Amino acid sequence: MTTRTPLDEARDQLSSAVKTLGYEQGIYDMLAAPRREMTVSIPLRRDDGRVELVTGHRVQHNLTRGPAKGGLRFSPDVDLDEVRALAMWMTWKCALVDVPYGGAKGGIRIDPRLYSQSELERVTRRYTSEIMPIIGPEKDIPAPDIGTDEQTMAWMMDTYSASQGHTVLGVVTGKPVSLGGSLGRASATSRGVTIVALEALAALGEEPSESTAAVQGFGKVGRGAARFLAQAGVAVTAVSDQYGAIMNPDGLDIASVEAFVDETGSVVGHPGSYAIDGPSILTLRCTVLVPAAVEGVLNADNAARVQAQIVVEGANGPTTASADRILQAHGVMVVPDILANAGGVIVSYFEWVQANQAYWWSESEVEQRLADRMKSAWDDVTLYARDHFLSLRDAATCLAVQRVADAHVLRGLYP
Ligand code: NAD
Repeated sequence: MTTRTPLDEARDQLSSAVKTLGYEQGIYDMLAAPRREMTVSIPLRRDDGRVELVTGHRVQHNLTRGPAKGGLRFSPDVDLDEVRALAMWMTWKCALVDVPYGGAKGGIRIDPRLYSQSELERVTRRYTSEIMPIIGPEKDIPAPDIGTDEQTMAWMMDTYSASQGHTVLGVVTGKPVSLGGSLGRASATSRGVTIVALEALAALGEEPSESTAAVQGFGKVGRGAARFLAQAGVAVTAVSDQYGAIMNPDGLDIASVEAFVDETGSVVGHPGSYAIDGPSILTLRCTVLVPAAVEGVLNADNAARVQAQIVVEGANGPTTASADRILQAHGVMVVPDILANAGGVIVSYFEWVQANQAYWWSESEVEQRLADRMKSAWDDVTLYARDHFLSLRDAATCLAVQRVADAHVLRGLYP
C-alpha cells in the first residue's frame, strides 16, 4: 500500500469541492498546482566550526486574492509535498475568513531542539536572505508555525529590513509586541479554536460546564486552547505533547500544567495527573477532541475508535480523508482546520494592517474583531453545509474554493 501524503489529502479535498461546485477540470488543475516554489540550500556554520547543509522551502500556492501568507516550520519531517499541502490549506483558510491574502508556507528541515539559539539565528537569517526575492509586505508574509516563534520572526524582519535599508515591519507577522507585533496575536489561534469549539457545543446543545476536552499537542496552539477551554468551564481531562500524554478525569489544572511545562519542557510527570499512552489521547471518551500537533494523526487505523462528539482541528491536516469518512459515518462533528485554526491568520492580517499604518489597536479591540470574524466564518460554513447537505469540511472548502475561483475569473488570464 502506498502511503498517502498531506498533499494527496489536500488535492482530494480540492477535487471533491471542484466536483460539488461543478467547475471544469482546468480550474482543478490551476488550483492543485502551486503558483511558485523555491527550494534553497542553507550552509550553516555550527558553533563548533563545522559546516552543515540544511534544506529550506517556500511555496506560494496562490496569489490571486492578495499577497501570499503562511507560516514557517522548523521540523526534521519537513518535505516539499508537505509544504505544498500546507500552502494550499492557507489559500483556502484566507479565502474562508475573507482576509485579502493568497496562501503560502515555508519549511526548513531541521530539528530546532538540536541547535543553539545562535545557530538557529544563522539558519533563519540565511534562509530569509535566500528567499528574499519572493517575500515582502506586498508579496509574501511569513509567520510562526511548528518549531518557530516570535524571535524567529524578529530575525526575519531584521534581515529583510537590513537588505532594504529601512525597517519593514509588514514583512512578517507574529513578531514580538515590542517590535511591531500585534497585541493578541500570540493567543489568536487558540482563542479562535475555543470560539468555534464553543459554537459547536452550542450547536449540539451541550453546556461547556458539562463537557470535557482532550488536547493533543501543548505548543503555541494546544496550550492556549486548553487554557481558554478550561476558562470557559470545560473540564480538560487530557493533554499531550511529543513525549507522552497525561490525564485527570476530574479536569487538569491547566495553569499548573503550563507552569510545569515551562519548568521541565514536557507535560509528562505533572503531579496532578497520571500518564497515559500518547496516541491514546485521540480515542478517549470526551466531548471535544482538539488535535493541535501534526498532520495525519486521525487516520483509518484509529478513526473508528474516536469517542469524542466534536473534533476541532487546531492543527493543519490532522484528519486523513479516510478518517473523515469514518468520523462522518459515526456522527462525529469535525470542525475543519481551515475554519478552526484561522484565528492566527486573522490576527496576522490585523498585525500587517497595523504595521503598514504604524497605528496600534488595543488588545480588546483585536480580540473583539477576531471573535466577530470567527463567528461570521462559523455562520457562513454551517449555513452552507446545511443548505447543500455537506460536511463542515466540504462546505468550508467549497466556500473557499469558490471565492478563489471567482477572483480568478474576475481577473481573467494574462495574456
Ligand atoms: P508548536 O511547535 O508550538 O507545538 C507543537 C506541539 O505538538 C508541541 O507540544 C509538540 O511536543 C507536540 N507534538 C509534536 N508531535 C506530536 C505527536 N506526534 N503527538 C503529540 N504531540 C506532538 O506548534 P504550533 O504552532 O502549536 O502548531 C501546531 C499545529 O497547529 C500545526 O499543525 C500548525 O501548522 C498549526 N497551526 C499553528 C498556528 C499558529 O499560529 N502557531 C496557526 C494555525 C495552525
